[in-house]
Amino acid sequence: MCGVKTTLASFDLIVRGGRVVDPANGVDAVRDVGVRLGRIEAVSERLDAPRTTLVMDASGRVIMPGHIDTHAHLSSPGGNVDRAFGHVMLAESGTTTALDLGGEPANLAAGMKARGAGMNVACLLQLVPHKTVPEDDPRPAVIRDTVSSAMNRGAIGVKLIGGYHPFTPEATADTISEANAQQAWVAFHVGTKDTGSDLTGLREVPALVGGGRLHVAHINSYTRGMVLPPDEECREAFLILESKRGQLVSEAYLAQANGTNGKCDEDGNVIYNVAQNCLKARGYPTTDKGMRQALIDGYGSALVERGGRIVLVTGEEAVRVWQAAKTDASLSFPVNPAPSAFTLATEKYADGEFRVDAISTDGGSLPRNVAIERTMALVAFGALSWPDAVKKLSWNPSRMLGLLNKGHFTPGADADITIVDPGTGRATMSLVSGKVIMKDGRTAADGGTWLVTGQGEAAAKASGLPYQVMDLSKSWLYGKPLSPNERGRVRAEVT
Ligand SMILES: [Zn+2]
Repeated sequence: MCGVKTTLASFDLIVRGGRVVDPANGVDAVRDVGVRLGRIEAVSERLDAPRTTLVMDASGRVIMPGHIDTHAHLSSPGGNVDRAFGHVMLAESGTTTALDLGGEPANLAAGMKARGAGMNVACLLQLVPHKTVPEDDPRPAVIRDTVSSAMNRGAIGVKLIGGYHPFTPEATADTISEANAQQAWVAFHVGTKDTGSDLTGLREVPALVGGGRLHVAHINSYTRGMVLPPDEECREAFLILESKRGQLVSEAYLAQANGTNGKCDEDGNVIYNVAQNCLKARGYPTTDKGMRQALIDGYGSALVERGGRIVLVTGEEAVRVWQAAKTDASLSFPVNPAPSAFTLATEKYADGEFRVDAISTDGGSLPRNVAIERTMALVAFGALSWPDAVKKLSWNPSRMLGLLNKGHFTPGADADITIVDPGTGRATMSLVSGKVIMKDGRTAADGGTWLVTGQGEAAAKASGLPYQVMDLSKSWLYGKPLSPNERGRVRAEVT
């Protein structure tokens, strides 16, 4: 076989003959991927192995490093671990690693045991006054204790949820700097008591972050055309991100549907800023009457369980769900304009790096786990190349989180793999550490691996779950200041 390199080595598994897209190693070609002991052993034109080696045919498929979702929701609502549906829902879409953007770590671990689907999962503690943080607008000392306690319980940091439980700008800035001081992850759904969950909230970010570091969550949520036309909001969002480039990490999701809560107060007014914005966007009053009409008209949907998954229902059925929950129900509105999603997914800086680091789902237990599928639609459309798609879905997220063994197929990297059918854009199989966790849209594993920081190791050990320790000093969030060129350097590093 002239010209074809043959490597004979010992493999546990060979994924044979797919189009391997591994931008970190400059590979975009038909290759075999050899796995040994849960790690990538070799990627080559032809790998041979004894007959006993498991060989999976991937011809006609795309083989990419596993999708890392930097914004998911996996914790079970209300602490009911039997309702941790997000693991299965997210794994079914082809994701292999996820950051849960807001829950309680013990709840996440229990949910992973009860309904896990084999993924690697890290979580943030969401800051809800009088629930997870003892006071409104917490003082620095209170924040300090809340952050360190969250880390000890296995969270990798905290999430500020300005769209639901906004703090004053002062308490928000204090939370960012206190989290930074402990090198805890800190994500921000923008909005303070002075602004909202829209472009006005995003405009506050540079002042709030100062010289610090911040994960600005779902940029698409602030480019829905609430303040300016969507395209102008995208332009301004890019300038805001650029003004603190190197200090911020960001993601955006591609689903039209958002997630919110329909809770109303005693006077019949919709409480949460995000839900108010959804109603305002179509001219509905921000009252219980407006909400009811939006559901009846089919504009809003309610989330209900069906067969161990969460699905959307609308019309009278949605009204019944919302009323049965005394208005405190999870709802969804199609408020994310496609042009904003497109722009945020594809725009780059002059040096070739993406302006928004990653494509996320903001899904999990919310039925919009379309990151892979929609990104593949952008590839089919010609808006992203295959290597660019993999950068947004896997490589950049791995660097964001400091998961240096993921996001690429360098020998020694974790054998986390997502296999995609380029015809449908859907993932047909995914593997974590060389083990199949999803096949043909069905999960094939349970449990999962808990990703914690060194501070959370004791909690992870006590949980009995498999765990891995992350080093956030290696993340883009906390990595030492790098020039844009260095940051964009596509050299895989393996530890
Ligand atoms: Zn979210």
